[in-house]
Amino acid sequence: MAHAGKKRKLDQTRPDRVYQDRVYFDSYSDVSIHEEMLADRVRTGAYRSAILRNSASIRGRTVLDVGAGTGVLSAFCVQAGARRVYAVEASSIAEQALKIVKQNNMETQIQVIRGAVEAVELPERVDVIVSEWMGYALLHESMLQSVLYARDKWLRPGGLLLPSRAELFIAPVSDPVVEERLRFWFTVKEQYGVDMSCMRDFAKSCIMNSDISVSPVTVEDVLSHPARFAELDLDTLTPEELREVKGHFKCSSFGCASVNALCVWFSVSFPCPDEPQLPVVLSTSPFHPETHWKQAVLYLDCPVDVEQDTVISGEVQMFASERSDRHICIRVNCAIGDENRQNKTFSIPDWSAQS
Ligand code: SAH
Repeated sequence: MAHAGKKRKLDQTRPDRVYQDRVYFDSYSDVSIHEEMLADRVRTGAYRSAILRNSASIRGRTVLDVGAGTGVLSAFCVQAGARRVYAVEASSIAEQALKIVKQNNMETQIQVIRGAVEAVELPERVDVIVSEWMGYALLHESMLQSVLYARDKWLRPGGLLLPSRAELFIAPVSDPVVEERLRFWFTVKEQYGVDMSCMRDFAKSCIMNSDISVSPVTVEDVLSHPARFAELDLDTLTPEELREVKGHFKCSSFGCASVNALCVWFSVSFPCPDEPQLPVVLSTSPFHPETHWKQAVLYLDCPVDVEQDTVISGEVQMFASERSDRHICIRVNCAIGDENRQNKTFSIPDWSAQS
């Protein structure tokens, strides 16, 4: 999950849920989004090894794939020995999943069902639920709600959820690129004889605004160890708890720098009974190989100079925006050193306005 296709289609002008869902599912009917997800080897490889390592729990059992897309995870479950897989997909990509199932001679095991998981009927409860539901900053698109719904309705008691845990992290960042872009306006006079230094504040308000910027953070720009601010146990998480995910963090700066942003990312983990102390972890950390989720960068209004061991601490709250249940907002209330307090709410921009 998480792609330019989605970026285009999530519409903020009409908050009605039915319309929002139609636009959302339409964004998954195009090839690009599925191409990007399949090409993300960190993502798809992690799911494949997690499913195969759980083959003892999958062999001969029934599986529900929530949001099957091309059916790739359903196919992995058949490779792990599943007896029956219900591949539920609401968008028209389900037609392609059907073809892929046939091409791989998996018709006897995989049943593709076109529809929202909230609306379909299955003939039985399942032993395992697999789903790739993560959006930008984990919760954008709020597909996890659908997985919890499916868990409560279709997973037999004690059944297996893949993945079963999610964690959210934050770290301060010194992004030299934005500083350079701001300095650029001071260089125009030198080049063309026209002073444009007055553009700096305007440029700052455009670049360092309250949009969640989805971009890869260079590891050298990260100023501290990651601080985990939330952990979701998907076996027990309730839809009410998911409405607002929040937590505290405390980081300590590696050295002298100007903190101009915070970055947020997530990991999900899959239990592995063969080696319980070694779960498969799909991480979107800037310290790990890049994924299509990149990181969520939150620019501060006022960059702050820090020294080694300066403490950056605060609270993060994540909740759905008022304009759409599927749009995530992140509120950060933090203190940098002893003096500086900052409080800012960020949201995923309306990418449709740019395309
Ligand atoms: N499992 C595939 C696709 C993941 S993307 C893969 O790993 O490649 C998430 C998919 O879930 C999209 O195709 C989207 O249309 C579908 N989806 C999201 N919410 C859904 C719901 N409530 N019911 C059915 N499908 C859903």
